[in-house]
Formats: sequence, structure tokens, C-alpha cells
Amino acid sequence: MRYVDDAPAAVLAAAKDMLRRGLVEGTAGNISARQEDGSIVITPSSVDYADMALDDLVVIDLDGEPISAKEGRSPSSEKLLHLACYKAFDDIGSVIHSHPVHATMFAVAHRGIPACIDEFSIYVGGDVRCTAYGASGTADVGAEAVKALEGRGAALLANHGMVAVGPKPSTVLHITALVERSAHIVWGAESLGGPRPLPDEVNQGFAGIYGFLRQNPM
Ligand SMILES: [Zn+2]
Repeated sequence: MRYVDDAPAAVLAAAKDMLRRGLVEGTAGNISARQEDGSIVITPSSVDYADMALDDLVVIDLDGEPISAKEGRSPSSEKLLHLACYKAFDDIGSVIHSHPVHATMFAVAHRGIPACIDEFSIYVGGDVRCTAYGASGTADVGAEAVKALEGRGAALLANHGMVAVGPKPSTVLHITALVERSAHIVWGAESLGGPRPLPDEVNQGFAGIYGFLRQNPM
């Protein structure tokens, strides 16, 4: 089971970085990390990232029951999405859910993002799939996300946003930013005649490196 050393500090740092990089606004999106004892540290609902402090973070078990939380703090309303990812993938230590504009454009159109930028597949594993629709906050979102995440570091949530997974929060934030940047580029390339695919063998080689790095994170 993959876990993150000093998970609260890593979650808070990634939350601040996510806001600074414009990948979320206000209280939207959420970040979590798995601790050595199997519990999950997750950002609270309805607390602005700019004001968030370490003691605002909530610790829950894999059933979503609170283990520790400051008075007035409750876990993210998308905790079921995070928990579904941890239950399905033993080799991940962190989950980030976000709503960046260009990736969400693809999610609203129910379109995946093709792996057409060199080295994209090293970090993501291949094309980013879009899930079937599940209503926000329900277990459906997590069940659909787990299917779309098979062999990948990210998936689009239909009519909603993105979820990304990986060994630790800083890596998962990097994946989130890369997928958003790729969505922006592919959207622009559509107006220039459409993106041209990379050769299959190139993407397969990159995907092999992704698989290795997922098992042996740096
Ligand atoms: Zn959301």
C-alpha cells in the first residue's frame, strides 16, 4: 500500500499550489493523501484554499467516517470519489479532484483528451478517458472514475471536471496541470485542422515508462 510521509503538510502545500496555479477557484476541488495507517487526510468542504491551515484538514477512514476533525470542519463533499480511488488502486498515495477550464470543456463534451503531445503518456499513461455521468457527491462518480482510471494517472468526470491519482500530492498536482495544459493545446489544435496522433509505438513506449514509474515513484 502506497502512503505519503507527513501527509497533512503535503496536502496543504499542494492545495495552496493548486490555487496559485489557477487550477481551482475558492473552495472548489479537493486534495487527499493516504497515511501509513491507511487513513486518509483530505481537504475540508467550504474552506477557501487561501485561508486553509493544517488544522482545517480532516482525517477519515476508508468508509468515510471521521477519525479527527476540528470543530465545524467536515470532509470534502467528494470524499466518496477519493475513497473509491484508494480502494481500487493500492499503488496510489494521493488523489486530486479539480475543475480547470479546458479539461472541463472536454468533460462537458464527453470527450477524452488524446495523448498527442510528446512525453504526455510518461506522466499520464495514455489518452485521458471521460467517464459516464455520475451525479456529484454520489458513489456513482467514484465507480465510473475507477473504470476510466485503469492504467492512467487522470480521468475526466463527465459534466464536472477532472480526477488525478499518483504517489504523492506534488506529483498528482503536476499531472493535473499537464492534463489541463494538454486540453488547452488540443482544443486550439482543433481549429488548426485537428491534432495529429503520435505513432502508436511511441505512446506504447511512454506508457511502459509510466507503468514503471507508477510502481517505482521517484
Ligand atoms: Zn467537483
